[in-house]
Amino acid sequence: MYYGGNDLGAVTEEGRTSFKLWSPGAEHVTLCFYADGGDGPVQDKIPMESGEDGVWSVSFPENLHGVYYDYEIRRDGKTVRTADPYAKACGVNGSRSMAVDLRRTDPEGWEQDAAPAKRGEDIIYEVHVKEFSWDERGGFRKDHRGKYLAFTEEGTTLDGDGVHPTGISYLKELGVTHIQLMPVFDYGSVDEGRDADPAAFNWGYDPVNYNVPEGSYSSDAGRGEVRIRELKELVGSLHRNGFRVIMDVVYNHTYSEDSWLSRTVPGYYYRYQEDGSLTNGSACGNDVASERPMCGRYILDSVMYWAGEYHMDGFRFDLMGLLDVELMNRIQSALDARFGAGEKLVYGEPWAAAVSPMEGDAVPALKENIEKLDDKIAVFCDSTRDSIRGHVFEAEIPGFVNGGEGLESAILESVRAWCGFKHDKGFRPKAPSQIISYVSAHDNLTLWDKLMMTMEPDSGFTRMPEAVLKANQLAAAIYFTCQGHIFMLSGEEFGRTKQGDENSFRSPISLNCLDWGRAYENRELVEYYRGLIALRFQLPGLCDKSETAFRRITERKIEAPGCVSFCVDNEGETHESRWKRLLIAYNAGEKSRRIRLPEGTWSVLMADGDSWLWKREDVVAEEKFAVSPTSAVILGCEE
Ligand code: CA
Repeated sequence: MYYGGNDLGAVTEEGRTSFKLWSPGAEHVTLCFYADGGDGPVQDKIPMESGEDGVWSVSFPENLHGVYYDYEIRRDGKTVRTADPYAKACGVNGSRSMAVDLRRTDPEGWEQDAAPAKRGEDIIYEVHVKEFSWDERGGFRKDHRGKYLAFTEEGTTLDGDGVHPTGISYLKELGVTHIQLMPVFDYGSVDEGRDADPAAFNWGYDPVNYNVPEGSYSSDAGRGEVRIRELKELVGSLHRNGFRVIMDVVYNHTYSEDSWLSRTVPGYYYRYQEDGSLTNGSACGNDVASERPMCGRYILDSVMYWAGEYHMDGFRFDLMGLLDVELMNRIQSALDARFGAGEKLVYGEPWAAAVSPMEGDAVPALKENIEKLDDKIAVFCDSTRDSIRGHVFEAEIPGFVNGGEGLESAILESVRAWCGFKHDKGFRPKAPSQIISYVSAHDNLTLWDKLMMTMEPDSGFTRMPEAVLKANQLAAAIYFTCQGHIFMLSGEEFGRTKQGDENSFRSPISLNCLDWGRAYENRELVEYYRGLIALRFQLPGLCDKSETAFRRITERKIEAPGCVSFCVDNEGETHESRWKRLLIAYNAGEKSRRIRLPEGTWSVLMADGDSWLWKREDVVAEEKFAVSPTSAVILGCEE
């Protein structure tokens, strides 16, 4: 059974509202109306008509905006109640759906809202809505703390001192291009009710309503249209301030297997073992069966809805390895067709927590299948991450910057985004367009905590020892000079710590929130990141995402244990640069290393922890240039 129409759910417009539900095999479906989205009594019950392809429908000659509803489905002699899996609005905690006239949720000027132009590189900054503005020192309006609306505040400062920017003003100074929001669809682990604890916290990887914003970030979760308008205000504000907005999407599993999807069509939307038990590749108790036609269609429709209605500029797929390659490629093609090729960024985690058997000849979107993915779909590159900072799970195992040995070749591969040669492990990216170069995300230890645990294991996490600051700078310099899209966890640039908590998904908000004071206590590190970000736009040879980009990286050398260098053909294709050639070296060792420069006059763009040198003055390098211990250098030649 397959339904190809695009009108499932409640479609509400002037003079008409229709309800359609795909529930093949149901004996009877009743639409129930309510005056509120909480637990008020049912007001009306309307039997629905069974049509072709398993679709049940009923329509009304009026605009029913604001009416709450759910369904009673009779199947095999039993009746179950369910909200609408296709709902676009819902009541408190998402348990009832709401008919919404979406035009009434548009903030002022929404029709003119547009993403800022691309800037030649994608520098993605991952942030959680509540973490962003929870810290009192951030200077946000009290009623905006932890909410969507904190992203609409311009000019916030530390303790309101009028001097030190926080919030989006801080992000503008930092210079990142994309803001990736951790889950903002409606999830189940935080109570949205009026009496809920305002400090309740969860990352939100437990979807309830895929096509509705989370209510706990809104100013009023009890009125279905409010969260929609406020998330749109967030997007509009970020667009106006020069950022693109990316949404973290979690289609691989639901909060519970007892979801609206399974109540509507039991057994259809999940994967099962041969003994009938659920598969658990997500480690969250269930895996969504993306390879099934109406399930894949559901996911595709959902992505297109967020891209169109909310003007989202990209999607980060959680546990993308649980979805199938064919679906991912279909999503990219549909986005390209509707919005322009590459206009919407698509990337994800190319792994799963465990094997999840797919039906038929479906191929999982895992790292080893990257060659089968559209060349615009990118994956988080754990090879780069772990080479730089060390083992992801074994806290004490270091990487290149913090004492690891034998990692020189891996670092040189990271630089060219693992492209251009055959790997025995079967990881063969087609181009840097497929790679996210990064060292920290919300999962696992923060970069700072990892460095402290490997370098200063008895020092706690709050202190800022000089050696660790240098290692942090070197780690940043490495991935900011790798090919691929650049990605960072919010606060990485100020040594963000979670006190060694490697899985803070439900740890207190006090531990998770961005510490705006630390952003200024650690100003030197922030300045270093700012310089790197600005400099990245001057390095088109590294921003090149094409299949031949790897050829720009030449003269790859291991200078000494812990010290590598390479040259970059920096002739601009995407944009012009003053420097036609680059020489880059990373020295993780304790001794200064002299490297021999190729012919030409070389200027020092960055050295000794100063990433703004290129902007400030011309420093000509000597023929044998010394790279200080635990530091990176970038030299540029104008001819
Ligand atoms: Ca919720």
